[in-house]
Amino acid sequence: MKARVRRWLEEGTVDVFIGYRQVDGHPLPYCFTRENLDALDGLINSPARYALEKIATHLASRQPDLKIGILSLDTNRRALNVLGIWNQINPENITTVDADDAASGVATPDDMRTFEPVVPGPYKQQVGIDNAMSPADAEAFDQSERFSRWMYEFEKCIKCYGCRNICPVCFCRECSLEHRDLIGTGPLPPDVPIFHLVRAVHMAGRCIDCGLCEEACPADISLRLLYRKVNQILDNVFEYQTGSDPGQPPFSLLGNQVTLEPKPLDADK
Ligand code: SF4
Ligand code: SF4
Repeated sequence: MKARVRRWLEEGTVDVFIGYRQVDGHPLPYCFTRENLDALDGLINSPARYALEKIATHLASRQPDLKIGILSLDTNRRALNVLGIWNQINPENITTVDADDAASGVATPDDMRTFEPVVPGPYKQQVGIDNAMSPADAEAFDQSERFSRWMYEFEKCIKCYGCRNICPVCFCRECSLEHRDLIGTGPLPPDVPIFHLVRAVHMAGRCIDCGLCEEACPADISLRLLYRKVNQILDNVFEYQTGSDPGQPPFSLLGNQVTLEPKPLDADK
């Protein structure tokens, strides 16, 4: 892998390669460039999971012609598909190295978790939602119990925005979670359950089920399950599998129905 990346950088196939570098025993994201080829000695293949494609999005927004190489697992590739169809990256400028190909020795866990699943404590089991549940498991509770269990989860939120900040496919310049007409700013806990429902709806057609939001959440809220339910609805109702195909159209709840009359921009405003 190091030889291939070195060749790509030297030949100009890529201008930057985003991968992992071992620092003090920890795999950390690193941008390798042809100006510092010696750093490639530290390039490692690792099952570590950071949103490398989010770094690519930031770089591409500043330098749209930059040719970017990325070490990628399955979720990175799905995220790149989403970012491509939403015009956040130009797929023609992206080259990937599969971290999980047969020769690498890096296995991709089925559910992409690299941390041991957290065993819920007795109180969470009694009143909350176990993060390991499937949507069907959570739906087995009757409606009022399901509601109170989700409210228990949401009320733990400390509005740190970690779930949004780590998410590889959260790219809006203006975030609904900070829009004062939608969500009150300042007080804790945030408006429950609006804060979480706004984000869940917003992730429709974007969430690629990487689980990073849940791993980042300091309050251990079952976020991944919530977004899995959204994905399940998209699949069942719209036959849309988010990130499965670089050629799929961006997901739109309205489909081809245009409900607003187009009108020219008002130059005075
Ligand atoms: S699982 Fe969470 S972090 Fe990953 S894409 Fe979905 S919302 Fe974003
Ligand atoms: S990471 Fe968890 S605690 Fe932080 S804003 Fe998101 S849901 Fe709330």
